Amino acid sequence: MPPESYFTSAAVCRRGHVATSDLNRRAHGEWLQHCTVCGAEVLSWCPHCGTRIKGRHIAPAVGATYAPPEFCDFCGGPFPWVGREGRIYELENRLLATEGLDPAIAGMLRDWLNALAAMGPDDYGSAKEVELWQRIRESAPTLWENLGASEH
Ligand SMILES: [Zn+2]
Ligand SMILES: [Zn+2]
Repeated sequence: MPPESYFTSAAVCRRGHVATSDLNRRAHGEWLQHCTVCGAEVLSWCPHCGTRIKGRHIAPAVGATYAPPEFCDFCGGPFPWVGREGRIYELENRLLATEGLDPAIAGMLRDWLNALAAMGPDDYGSAKEVELWQRIRESAPTLWENLGASEH
């Protein structure tokens, strides 16, 4: 009988360092409070809906590598360690879901997000990229709520 296929529950720090990809295998009472890599708070549930963080896929012949998800598989909320691409996806999702936004502003935001999405790694951290993130943040501060990581 092959073992059942399932997903574990993971615990991940706010910056995305994996504390454990299988919470159930930790000794009872051994709760992870802070990341041993960076000292940040460790989450073992989605900050938006409280669902466990999807962990490793346990199945016959599946590799042991694990990268934490960028979005909750239950509510779709972004985790604080969401990366650059995920952040753009999430802002686009929110833009589509936001009603009553000035169409002129919505159009500009879409253009800026497209410009960010079209950038290559050479542009990351450039003055142009920083300016685009800043413009988006200033034009639509509510879109940024609970988005986790932010560019400073
Ligand atoms: Zn960390
Ligand atoms: Zn969630």
